[in-house]
Amino acid sequence: MGANVISAGARSQREASVRTAVIVVGLVVMLVGIAGAAYGFLTASSVETSYTLFCPSGQMPPEFCAALLATAASYRTLAYIMSGVFVLGLGLALAGAFLYEPAPMPVMAPPGIGPPNPWRTCAQCGSAVPSADRFCMRCGAPQW
Ligand SMILES: [Zn+2]
Repeated sequence: MGANVISAGARSQREASVRTAVIVVGLVVMLVGIAGAAYGFLTASSVETSYTLFCPSGQMPPEFCAALLATAASYRTLAYIMSGVFVLGLGLALAGAFLYEPAPMPVMAPPGIGPPNPWRTCAQCGSAVPSADRFCMRCGAPQW
């Protein structure tokens, strides 16, 4: 029983560090995603601005304008992908925050925790035996 409690405690500690790692990775992915999305959207709109500035008047060669449109489209695609990365990171961080919620701690300390009960009851004769004692003082039955 005591060993179970100890291993459960070690497990929830390990889960807590996994949880922290998942949240940190999620936040980093969110940051990368939002930065990439912002970069993609900003570059796409500036490329589109140059397109509307230079291309409708026909002063630029059509190849240049087609290249501008293609560039804007690929930056916009990048922005959508990075938005997806951001959502992924958000999901990861939320999963870390909620799914890895450590098991609720018992309000009362279970008997296995804390100073061990100094006495046990002999299974054979029923007399109280100090739990450190290997054998019952009265009947000699092994206690553990
Ligand atoms: Zn005994």
